[in-house]
Amino acid sequence: MFEKIKMTSPLVEMDGDEMTRILWKMIKDELILPFVDLKTEYYDLGLPHRDETGDQVTKDAAEACKRLGVGVKCATITPNAKRMDEYKLHEMWKSPNGTIRSILDGTVFRTPITIPSIKPVVKNWQEPITIARHAYGDVYKSVELRVNEPGTAKLVFDGESGQHEEVVIHNFKGEGVLQGQHNLDKSIRSFAHSCFKFAIDSKKDLWFSTKDTISKKYDGQFRQIFEEVYNENYKDEFAKLGLEYFYTLIDDAVARVIRSKGGYIWACKNYDGDVMSDMISTAFGSLAMMTSVLVSPDGNYEYEAAHGTVTRHYYKYLNGEETSTNPIATIFAWSGALRKRGEKDGIKELMNFGDQLEGACFDTLNAGVATKDLVNLMEGVEAKQVNSADFIACIRKNLEKRLGC
Ligand code: NAP
Ligand code: MG
Repeated sequence: MFEKIKMTSPLVEMDGDEMTRILWKMIKDELILPFVDLKTEYYDLGLPHRDETGDQVTKDAAEACKRLGVGVKCATITPNAKRMDEYKLHEMWKSPNGTIRSILDGTVFRTPITIPSIKPVVKNWQEPITIARHAYGDVYKSVELRVNEPGTAKLVFDGESGQHEEVVIHNFKGEGVLQGQHNLDKSIRSFAHSCFKFAIDSKKDLWFSTKDTISKKYDGQFRQIFEEVYNENYKDEFAKLGLEYFYTLIDDAVARVIRSKGGYIWACKNYDGDVMSDMISTAFGSLAMMTSVLVSPDGNYEYEAAHGTVTRHYYKYLNGEETSTNPIATIFAWSGALRKRGEKDGIKELMNFGDQLEGACFDTLNAGVATKDLVNLMEGVEAKQVNSADFIACIRKNLEKRLGC
């Protein structure tokens, strides 16, 4: 009889929507509850319950992450017009991830889960590359104008003290377009702290890239804040661990990333991170094999899968059809959260459980047992396609073997 691993404090459990909600329960029942005396504070972020609570549940869950320090989140629907009808919503609620991010004030780190039988498109990549995306401002909080006639566009700042500054953006001779962007020193500094902390945590070098040769004040501020934060807080620890902080221009970074062996964290401004994370995940194999963790500057962690609720598979599931949805990224959200809980509470068994759970996933995949999205990518093993339930059952067998039960 296996003695379940005890926990001393709870983690925040955020349930979600559609196919990932189905996987969530299967993962808990088969891979967590038989082995861990699980303590969670449960928040149902499924769209119906968000609607019932006027989205208060999302805010409560984010506050709980701040209080308890570790959370695990299932993928959730971000409503659009179609979802308004489908779920008869009272309001088009905001993206839960956006809400949680703005309450935790964090940075999102995305890392591909790699296996020997799935080769990255870039053949010299030997280790995963983690993208750290700044999640505030720039083009995502910009305002835009369409210009229909000749005239002068200006950038104007009116300070509360009476300070007045203005610069001419352009003297338009005809039609054109305009955009105003901003960012905040506070947010950039948080971003920097999260990146350096995560680099130390995962013992990886940190790269940072902007375009400060062209954008001397705006991108220049990003570069300068990173340098200050590094010199004042992290330089010694980096030296002790033999880690490097490396700043370069974004175009130079792109070229170096392609030539590199991988194995570092690449911090990107909001837009660069949006674009580059899709490039990195696709080049490493699959969105279903990408972890995502939100790290706040004061050291709170929220783990999730990088993909969405896999709607297409859910509709098949509702039709009674068999689905072969990949649960790996969601399992890694749990293993990451349990390991971090163990680390924060000094419970070695819980940290080890996180490792073994991930190990059991690798054992399964390395034996060629895989979901539909992966079978065609695998090389050098005889790949066998299974449905989600059989895949999870196989992981459970391997986990039991590893834990000696
Ligand atoms: P998605 O759920 O990531 O799925 C897009 C497609 O990628 C799927 O149709 C599937 O391709 C493939 N895929 C993704 N995850 C997979 C997995 N685990 N196993 C196998 N295949 C997988 O993105 P979406 O369809 O654009 O969005 C669906 C919903 O998710 C939306 O309501 C959106 O708001 C939400 N969303 C939530 C989050 C989040 O909570 N973090 C992130 C993104 C999107 P095939 O159909 O070809 O098999
Ligand atoms: Mg994107």
